[in-house]
Amino acid sequence: MSIARLRELESQIPKCRRCPRLVRYLDRSAEKYPDYWARPVPGYGDRRAWLLVVGLAPGMHGANRTGKPFQGDAAGTWLYASLEALGVWNGRSLRGAYIVNAAKCVPPLNRPTGEELNRCRPWLQEELANLASVRVVLALGTVAQRAVLQSYGLGPLSSYAFGHGVRHRLPGRPDLLSSYHPSRQNTNTGRLTPAMWRGIWRRVAHYRPAASGSIAGSRSAHR
Ligand code: SF4
Repeated sequence: MSIARLRELESQIPKCRRCPRLVRYLDRSAEKYPDYWARPVPGYGDRRAWLLVVGLAPGMHGANRTGKPFQGDAAGTWLYASLEALGVWNGRSLRGAYIVNAAKCVPPLNRPTGEELNRCRPWLQEELANLASVRVVLALGTVAQRAVLQSYGLGPLSSYAFGHGVRHRLPGRPDLLSSYHPSRQNTNTGRLTPAMWRGIWRRVAHYRPAASGSIAGSRSAHR
Protein backbone atom coordinates (compact mmCIF):
# COMPACT_ATOMS: atom_id res chain seq x y z
CA MET A 1 0.00 0.00 0.00
CA SER A 2 2.81 2.41 0.80
CA ILE A 3 4.42 1.73 -2.58
CA ALA A 4 1.12 2.49 -4.30
CA ARG A 5 0.75 5.71 -2.34
CA LEU A 6 4.29 6.78 -3.25
CA ARG A 7 3.44 6.26 -6.91
CA GLU A 8 0.34 8.41 -6.45
CA LEU A 9 2.40 11.11 -4.76
CA GLU A 10 4.85 11.12 -7.64
CA SER A 11 2.00 11.91 -10.01
CA GLN A 12 0.05 14.27 -7.69
CA ILE A 13 2.92 16.51 -6.52
CA PRO A 14 3.69 17.94 -9.99
CA LYS A 15 0.10 19.24 -10.16
CA CYS A 16 0.27 21.14 -6.85
CA ARG A 17 -0.29 24.90 -7.05
CA ARG A 18 -0.67 25.80 -3.37
CA CYS A 19 2.02 28.50 -3.23
CA PRO A 20 1.15 31.55 -5.33
CA ARG A 21 4.66 33.05 -5.34
CA LEU A 22 6.27 29.76 -6.39
CA VAL A 23 3.63 29.02 -9.00
CA ARG A 24 4.27 32.43 -10.58
CA TYR A 25 8.01 31.73 -10.52
CA LEU A 26 7.51 28.31 -12.10
CA ASP A 27 5.29 29.74 -14.80
CA ARG A 28 7.89 32.38 -15.61
CA SER A 29 10.59 29.70 -15.80
CA ALA A 30 8.38 27.66 -18.16
CA GLU A 31 8.02 30.69 -20.44
CA LYS A 32 11.71 31.45 -20.37
CA TYR A 33 12.86 27.84 -20.73
CA PRO A 34 10.15 25.97 -22.65
CA ASP A 35 11.99 22.65 -22.51
CA TYR A 36 12.33 22.70 -18.69
CA TRP A 37 10.21 20.53 -16.39
CA ALA A 38 9.07 23.75 -14.60
CA ARG A 39 6.64 22.03 -12.22
CA PRO A 40 6.88 20.81 -8.64
CA VAL A 41 9.50 18.04 -8.49
CA PRO A 42 8.32 14.87 -6.76
CA GLY A 43 10.50 12.34 -4.98
CA TYR A 44 12.47 9.96 -7.14
CA GLY A 45 14.14 6.60 -6.74
CA ASP A 46 13.62 3.18 -5.23
CA ARG A 47 10.36 3.02 -3.31
CA ARG A 48 11.89 0.27 -1.15
CA ALA A 49 14.90 2.43 -0.34
CA TRP A 50 16.99 1.99 2.82
CA LEU A 51 18.47 5.49 2.32
CA LEU A 52 16.44 8.68 1.99
CA VAL A 53 18.22 11.88 0.96
CA VAL A 54 16.41 15.13 1.74
CA GLY A 55 17.48 18.37 0.10
CA LEU A 56 16.16 21.91 0.30
CA ALA A 57 14.42 22.67 -3.01
CA PRO A 58 14.93 22.17 -6.75
CA GLY A 59 17.64 24.23 -8.41
CA MET A 60 16.53 26.39 -11.31
CA HIS A 61 18.78 24.69 -13.86
CA GLY A 62 18.97 21.33 -12.08
CA ALA A 63 15.81 19.60 -10.88
CA ASN A 64 13.58 22.34 -12.27
CA ARG A 65 15.03 21.50 -15.68
CA THR A 66 15.21 17.72 -15.44
CA GLY A 67 12.25 16.96 -13.14
CA LYS A 68 14.43 14.76 -10.92
CA PRO A 69 15.79 15.93 -7.55
CA PHE A 70 19.42 17.05 -7.77
CA GLN A 71 19.85 15.97 -11.38
CA GLY A 72 21.62 18.37 -13.69
CA ASP A 73 23.40 20.83 -11.42
CA ALA A 74 26.62 21.13 -9.43
CA ALA A 75 25.12 19.87 -6.16
CA GLY A 76 23.76 16.88 -8.04
CA THR A 77 27.20 16.11 -9.43
CA TRP A 78 28.46 15.67 -5.87
CA LEU A 79 25.42 13.75 -4.72
CA TYR A 80 25.10 11.31 -7.61
CA ALA A 81 28.86 10.62 -7.66
CA SER A 82 28.57 9.55 -4.03
CA LEU A 83 25.44 7.51 -4.69
CA GLU A 84 27.31 5.78 -7.49
CA ALA A 85 30.28 5.09 -5.24
CA LEU A 86 27.87 3.66 -2.68
CA GLY A 87 26.54 1.35 -5.37
CA VAL A 88 22.96 2.63 -5.39
CA TRP A 89 23.09 4.65 -8.65
CA ASN A 90 24.17 3.33 -12.04
CA GLY A 91 23.79 6.47 -14.10
CA ARG A 92 20.18 5.67 -14.99
CA SER A 93 18.36 4.50 -11.88
CA LEU A 94 18.55 4.26 -8.12
CA ARG A 95 18.38 1.03 -6.15
CA GLY A 96 18.24 1.35 -2.37
CA ALA A 97 17.94 5.15 -2.33
CA TYR A 98 15.17 7.71 -2.74
CA ILE A 99 15.64 11.48 -3.02
CA VAL A 100 13.23 14.28 -2.12
CA ASN A 101 13.32 17.98 -1.39
CA ALA A 102 11.71 19.76 1.56
CA ALA A 103 10.10 22.22 -0.88
CA LYS A 104 9.09 20.75 -4.20
CA CYS A 105 9.17 23.96 -6.25
CA VAL A 106 12.17 26.02 -7.28
CA PRO A 107 12.18 29.17 -5.13
CA PRO A 108 13.60 32.59 -6.03
CA LEU A 109 17.18 32.88 -4.72
CA ASN A 110 16.98 29.23 -3.63
CA ARG A 111 15.03 30.30 -0.53
CA PRO A 112 11.54 29.02 0.14
CA THR A 113 9.73 31.03 2.82
CA GLY A 114 8.66 29.45 6.09
CA GLU A 115 5.07 29.60 4.93
CA GLU A 116 5.93 27.78 1.69
CA LEU A 117 7.80 25.08 3.59
CA ASN A 118 4.82 24.67 5.90
CA ARG A 119 2.48 24.33 2.93
CA CYS A 120 4.73 21.75 1.35
CA ARG A 121 5.22 19.74 4.53
CA PRO A 122 2.23 17.43 4.03
CA TRP A 123 3.90 16.11 0.88
CA LEU A 124 7.11 15.37 2.77
CA GLN A 125 5.16 13.85 5.64
CA GLU A 126 3.50 11.44 3.25
CA GLU A 127 6.77 10.59 1.53
CA LEU A 128 8.38 9.81 4.90
CA ALA A 129 5.39 7.80 6.05
CA ASN A 130 5.31 5.68 2.91
CA LEU A 131 9.00 4.92 2.58
CA ALA A 132 8.69 2.00 4.96
CA SER A 133 12.16 0.47 4.47
CA VAL A 134 14.26 3.55 5.15
CA ARG A 135 16.98 3.06 7.80
CA VAL A 136 18.66 6.44 7.59
CA VAL A 137 17.55 9.87 6.48
CA LEU A 138 20.38 12.06 5.22
CA ALA A 139 19.38 15.71 5.60
CA LEU A 140 21.36 18.11 3.43
CA GLY A 141 21.36 21.40 5.32
CA THR A 142 19.57 22.92 8.28
CA VAL A 143 16.30 23.55 6.49
CA ALA A 144 16.08 19.94 5.36
CA GLN A 145 16.83 18.67 8.87
CA ARG A 146 14.17 20.92 10.35
CA ALA A 147 11.63 19.86 7.72
CA VAL A 148 12.22 16.18 8.52
CA LEU A 149 11.85 16.72 12.27
CA GLN A 150 8.68 18.76 11.82
CA SER A 151 7.27 16.18 9.42
CA TYR A 152 7.82 13.53 12.07
CA GLY A 153 6.14 15.79 14.64
CA LEU A 154 9.31 15.89 16.76
CA GLY A 155 10.42 18.87 18.80
CA PRO A 156 11.41 21.17 20.20
CA LEU A 157 13.76 21.78 17.29
CA SER A 158 16.37 23.20 19.69
CA SER A 159 16.76 19.66 21.09
CA TYR A 160 18.13 18.54 17.71
CA ALA A 161 21.29 20.50 17.01
CA PHE A 162 22.34 20.75 13.39
CA GLY A 163 25.92 20.04 12.47
CA HIS A 164 27.87 18.37 9.72
CA GLY A 165 28.01 14.68 10.60
CA VAL A 166 25.66 14.97 13.57
CA ARG A 167 23.35 11.99 13.94
CA HIS A 168 20.15 11.90 15.91
CA ARG A 169 18.44 8.71 16.92
CA LEU A 170 14.71 9.34 16.57
CA PRO A 171 12.16 7.36 18.56
CA GLY A 172 10.43 4.84 16.30
CA ARG A 173 11.96 6.46 13.20
CA PRO A 174 15.00 5.98 11.00
CA ASP A 175 18.19 7.66 12.20
CA LEU A 176 18.66 11.24 11.05
CA LEU A 177 22.15 12.11 9.79
CA SER A 178 22.91 15.67 8.78
CA SER A 179 25.40 17.14 6.35
CA TYR A 180 26.18 20.52 4.91
CA HIS A 181 24.39 20.88 1.59
CA PRO A 182 26.70 20.28 -1.40
CA SER A 183 25.66 23.61 -2.92
CA ARG A 184 28.19 25.49 -4.98
CA GLN A 185 28.19 28.13 -2.24
CA ASN A 186 29.41 25.54 0.28
CA THR A 187 31.75 23.55 -1.95
CA ASN A 188 33.39 26.58 -3.58
CA THR A 189 34.11 28.22 -0.24
CA GLY A 190 35.50 25.10 1.41
CA ARG A 191 32.73 24.99 3.99
CA LEU A 192 32.09 21.52 2.60
CA THR A 193 35.24 19.78 1.38
CA PRO A 194 35.47 16.48 -0.53
CA ALA A 195 36.93 14.84 2.59
CA MET A 196 34.04 16.04 4.76
CA TRP A 197 31.57 14.78 2.16
CA ARG A 198 33.27 11.39 1.91
CA GLY A 199 33.05 11.12 5.70
CA ILE A 200 29.27 11.43 5.52
CA TRP A 201 29.04 8.66 2.95
CA ARG A 202 31.19 6.33 5.03
CA ARG A 203 28.61 6.82 7.80
CA VAL A 204 25.72 6.24 5.40
CA ALA A 205 27.29 2.98 4.17
CA HIS A 206 26.97 1.48 7.67
CA TYR A 207 23.19 1.45 7.26
CA ARG A 208 23.18 -0.66 4.12
CA PRO A 209 21.19 -3.84 4.75
CA ALA A 210 23.34 -6.99 4.66
CA ALA A 211 21.32 -8.52 1.84
CA SER A 212 21.35 -5.44 -0.36
CA GLY A 213 23.45 -5.77 -3.49
CA SER A 214 25.13 -3.08 -5.50
CA ILE A 215 23.49 -1.67 -8.59
CA ALA A 216 26.69 -0.29 -9.99
CA GLY A 217 29.56 -1.90 -8.13
CA SER A 218 31.48 0.23 -5.68
CA ARG A 219 34.33 2.30 -6.95
CA SER A 220 37.40 2.48 -4.81
CA ALA A 221 37.38 6.25 -4.60
CA HIS A 222 35.05 9.12 -5.17
CA ARG A 223 35.28 12.85 -4.91
S1 SF4 B 1 6.18 24.31 -2.76
FE1 SF4 B 1 5.01 22.45 -2.32
S2 SF4 B 1 3.02 23.16 -1.55
FE2 SF4 B 1 3.99 24.91 -2.61
S3 SF4 B 1 3.20 24.78 -4.73
FE3 SF4 B 1 5.15 23.69 -4.67
S4 SF4 B 1 4.56 21.53 -4.30
FE4 SF4 B 1 2.81 22.81 -3.75
